[in-house]
Amino acid sequence: MSRNILVTGGARGIGKGIAKAFLTNGDRVLIADLGIRSSWKYDLSTESDLNDAAEELKELGSVDAINLDVTEFESCLSAVMQMVEDAGSLDVLVNNAGIVDSGPIDAFPEANWDRVFEVNVKGIYNMTRAALPYLRESEDSAIVNTASIAGKRGSANMSCYCASKFAVIGLTQSLAQELAQSGIRVNAVCPGIVGTAMWFDHLMANQGEEAFDAAMARRIPLQRPQTIGDIGEAVVYLASAKNVTGISMNVAGGLEMN
Ligand code: NAD
Repeated sequence: MSRNILVTGGARGIGKGIAKAFLTNGDRVLIADLGIRSSWKYDLSTESDLNDAAEELKELGSVDAINLDVTEFESCLSAVMQMVEDAGSLDVLVNNAGIVDSGPIDAFPEANWDRVFEVNVKGIYNMTRAALPYLRESEDSAIVNTASIAGKRGSANMSCYCASKFAVIGLTQSLAQELAQSGIRVNAVCPGIVGTAMWFDHLMANQGEEAFDAAMARRIPLQRPQTIGDIGEAVVYLASAKNVTGISMNVAGGLEMN
């Protein structure tokens, strides 16, 4: 049966891959992402990125787009209401929007620390609260959070991002316990390394795609970075598996095994 799926951070990167996978599965998708230029260490999506993504995805099925800032509860509520008004229900919430920053703890600006937690952690709290009344009404509902292998193991100079992703895994497990009686399954996907803006515009900025691929081939047991398709496939599984809840599944080519 076709379901109605809301994907945050859906204008590009992993979120767009997740949207593609649901559309290919025959589901209806609302991609939700920032509509205004938001200042960060690297460019985040704009309204035109969001509209271009929706245009491209239309070839695969029924897709709409909406501006969303996950740090604002009212904005989350509007996105949820658009899905329910247009499609009649909300069955699956994919909390994928996220940002990264890195650097030694003693030089890490407090404002950046707060912003990473506001988007990566509080964003999930806001979206989940906005969506819950409708997820409870659905006969086949699930939440999938995009955590990371950075939520399973700490790394030097990544304390803020890792802590935020450990928090996503804690949220996932707690919500899975809390919402099981309502029939809502809650899982997380933990991508390994996917060549998106996070890498090309921040973590490995100015090094080029070839250097990225070569570095990842050396580092990852299966010898390649992950694709947005790899992550999309896993998220569709996590949103569909009827007796799976509370897991945080690595899609990392063996880079993380716990
Ligand atoms: P990306 O920067 O291409 O995508 C992130 C999207 O989130 C962007 O479109 C951005 O505009 C949106 N976003 C940021 N702040 C937002 C806000 N306040 N409200 C709404 N949308 C907002 O990067 P990506 O790699 O596709 O990241 C997607 C998710 O995957 C993130 O949660 C990230 O932490 C996670 N992740 C990425 C990797 C990787 O290697 N790329 C690995 C593990 C986990």
